[in-house]
Amino acid sequence: MRPHQEPKPSDVADVADSVGQPSDVADVAHTAGQPSDGDATPSSWYPRLGRPARPSRCRTALLRTAVLGAATFTLLGAAGLLMKGPEHLPGLAGSPFSAGTAAGASTGATADPGPSPDLPAPVVDMSISRRSEDAGKTVNLTIDDGPDPQWTPRVLAVLARNDAKAVFCMLGPNARAHPELARQVVAAGHRLCDHSVSHDTAMDHKDTAYQEKEIVDGLRMIQDATGGAPVPYYRAPGGAFTPESRQIAAAHGMRPLGWNVDTRDFERPGVDRIVETAQEQLRRGPTVLLHDGGGNRAQTVEALERLLPRLKAEGYTFSFPER
Ligand SMILES: [Zn+2]
Repeated sequence: MRPHQEPKPSDVADVADSVGQPSDVADVAHTAGQPSDGDATPSSWYPRLGRPARPSRCRTALLRTAVLGAATFTLLGAAGLLMKGPEHLPGLAGSPFSAGTAAGASTGATADPGPSPDLPAPVVDMSISRRSEDAGKTVNLTIDDGPDPQWTPRVLAVLARNDAKAVFCMLGPNARAHPELARQVVAAGHRLCDHSVSHDTAMDHKDTAYQEKEIVDGLRMIQDATGGAPVPYYRAPGGAFTPESRQIAAAHGMRPLGWNVDTRDFERPGVDRIVETAQEQLRRGPTVLLHDGGGNRAQTVEALERLLPRLKAEGYTFSFPER
């Protein structure tokens, strides 16, 4: 028995749909060089984090050592922000570091502190993946929070009509409740991603044992549902990655998965808006976040209907995130 309560998928849905999030912060985040990550879940789920304070330069210091010390501190602070970015950005709505959208692509790996000897050794890269495994003009569709009996079949149908592939980031209990859908996803050539058990977007504030349980139990539920199909990715709910959770995922063969494009489809901003946002933000990188669970996803389905042919006409090919 799990010590924590699993929300029913419908609970997740209702909350996700009722709360808005600011949009259009990604440009700022990008300018700030912050990789953002995680998931487009409602801001109310996110920990209320203050904007990380940048160490201010000491303008009055006369001693060289003081200046050097301040510079070092600033550099370390910047490195710390880079490392913290993926875990914390989604909660910082309204600040330049806010987002859930993503600038991604560039910086995550360089600031990675590397594996901890206190945890199982990673067997895949534990940095956050956002790039495509194929070269060229690519798009990586990632579809979160399912499988859902109402929406997943529709998403699968649109993808099939457009010869598009996607990564499905499943919640363990949803896979367990709808194993036939999980197997359909695999049979259609899509890839699986562990999206945890409880969709706890504050799990980066919980202890390592809790994070491990969320990740490993989610993985097992997905594997049980699919008869042991590979699960090559892990995406933390709300982008609540920690170095520990990334290593735990990587020790189970799952590459942490971020995104570059956040359509905010869960807010149901209108089909046009979802399509426009996707096309605009694809300049930042190839990995697109969408949802087939957590609420009414009619807009997402319709957006995919419009977006996929358009992307193909523009010369995009469908790829997968690097593993
Ligand atoms: Zn999610």
